[in-house]
Order: sequence, then structure tokens, then C-alpha cells
Amino acid sequence: MYDLHTLDSDSPRPSTYSVRNELVANKADWQYVLSARTLQLAIADLGTAWQNFFDKSQPDWGKPAFKSKKAARQGFKTDRAKIVAGKLRLDKPRGVKDWYDIRISKHTDLSGTLKVVSIYRENGKYWASLPFEVELDDKPQTGDNSAVDVNVGHLNYTVGIVDTLPKRLRKLYQRINFYQKQLSHKRVVDGNKATKGSRYGAMRTKLQRDYRKVANIQHDIMQKFTTQLVNNYDKIVIEDLSVKEMQMSHVASKGLQRSMFGYFRQILSYKCDWYGKELILADHEYPSTQRCSKCGHIKVGADKITLQGNVTHRTKHSEYVCYSCGAILDRDENAVANLLDLI
Ligand SMILES: [Zn+2]
Repeated sequence: MYDLHTLDSDSPRPSTYSVRNELVANKADWQYVLSARTLQLAIADLGTAWQNFFDKSQPDWGKPAFKSKKAARQGFKTDRAKIVAGKLRLDKPRGVKDWYDIRISKHTDLSGTLKVVSIYRENGKYWASLPFEVELDDKPQTGDNSAVDVNVGHLNYTVGIVDTLPKRLRKLYQRINFYQKQLSHKRVVDGNKATKGSRYGAMRTKLQRDYRKVANIQHDIMQKFTTQLVNNYDKIVIEDLSVKEMQMSHVASKGLQRSMFGYFRQILSYKCDWYGKELILADHEYPSTQRCSKCGHIKVGADKITLQGNVTHRTKHSEYVCYSCGAILDRDENAVANLLDLI
């Protein structure tokens, strides 16, 4: 189970265990009050982070980042948490008399094996993330397939459209934009002192609250949609999303909206895995926008359609007009049909 914790001459570095022993031996008095697992899990996480960083087959891993105690999100992990009678029970710290289980709202049907629980504080509230290991059965095969075309503000698939930019999300983007401008203005005017002010702090709290709301709304839309996809289809085609992300350069709050695509692919991919469904990724060279789904003709040069339609042929941004077979199609529906042709 334990490996890779050696000091060798090529990459001399302390092992997770030498660091742990050192820190455990030098615990401060206040640390004895806490569950011993808190320190141990933090060191184990750091060890894994460094191991990933030195893993040459994973070039994307960055160096572990320093976590400031001033950061907005503060947390710890424990592997000793339990669910007792529908309540969350954490390790009782030493020397504490009154210790209560924590009530869990809404979801009462928690089952499976509880894994390492993260507790964190953000925006003055405490959160617990409870990962469960559960046995999953494959979803029944439906004999039906689908494809999803990602667009600015909506997703098209074989039987409809999912709105990914509802009004409440748009409003939150605007407000986040406003707070960010105000805060950066304060920083320019007041310099280093700015971040210490109480009004600055209050506004930053509001900003963080809105970020949390945005994430909740986005996750809700994507979780529901991906569940629907794995329930109803056996094979699902999606395109390489990096191409679409680049086309979004004109969208306000694109960073916030973009993060949704990565999330979409990530959760769809693990849900397909869980439930025995197949996810097909279209190659980023595949001309899902330029191809005619009726005859297979692919537009080139001046015939190509852009987000604004085609200037040469005066077509609208929402249509696909084929100059080979004469078909007039909805641009997004055509893209979905093209993706579906990959199955
Ligand atoms: Zn055609």
C-alpha cells in the first residue's frame, strides 16, 4: 500500500511519513484539542499533491499551492465521520464535554459507505461534503442514441434545447461583474489598505455569495440534464468543447459560462461510466457546423457559416443552407444531426 516515499539522490525530498512524524512530534498545545486525523489527512493530501507534481506522465499537475489562512475558504477533512440516525457525527475533540451530532437537511436517504468527509467554512457558513461509495447497476439499454451540440446559452440535443443561461443566472453574472468592478476600483483608489476596510469586506462577501449561487444553478442544470441523457440514451456524442469555448469570446462573463462546459463533459463522462452508457467525443476537426446532415456536403472557404451566418450568401445566423442539395436546416439541429452521424 505504501510506496514512493524514498529519498534518492535524483530527487531528494522528504516522504509523507517523515513530514508527518516531524509535525506530530512537534504539535502545538492547541493541536491536541483537534482530532489527530485532521493533521494526518492534510499531510497525506500534500504528499499526494507532490507525488502528482513529480509524476512525469501527468504533465498537467501543478505545484501544490500554499493555502493562506486568510483565504475565503477554510476547511479540513476527516475519515472518522459517521452517519448516526440520520445525523452527522464528527470525532469528539479532547477535553470537550458537550458534543452533538449535526442535523442533515433535506436528504435523509443517505446510504452506502461514507468516505473522507470535508468540512469547510465559506462566507460565514459551514459546509460538509459527504462522499458515499455506492454500488451502481447499469441503466437499462433503451436502443436510442443522442448527440449534444453546445452553444452560447443553450445546449441542443436530439429532442430539444436546454437553456444554460436562464434569467436568474444572467442577473447574477451582471451583479458579479458589478461587484468585481467596484472592488477593483477600491483597490486602485485606496491601494493596500483597501482590502482591510469593512465595506470592502462586506462587498467581497456578497460577491462570494453570488459565486456560490451561480455554481449551484449551473450544477443543478447540468446534473439534471446529464442524468436525463444517461437515462434515455445508450450512446451520446458530444463535440470537442475547446472549439466552442473559443467562439464564445463575445459573451459577457464568459469565464463563468465556460466553466460549465468542462463541468458538463466531466459529469457526463463519469455518469456514462457508472451506468454502462457510451460517451463518444467528436474529433475537434469534425466539421459539425459546416457539414450538411442531409447529403454530407462540407462547406469550405467563403461558403462557410460563422456565428453571424454567411455574409456572401446573406444567410441568417440560425440557418444552414446547403448549396449542394438545397436543404434549408436549423443551424443547431443540423449540428446535432451531424454529431449523431458519428455513431
Ligand atoms: Zn446538402
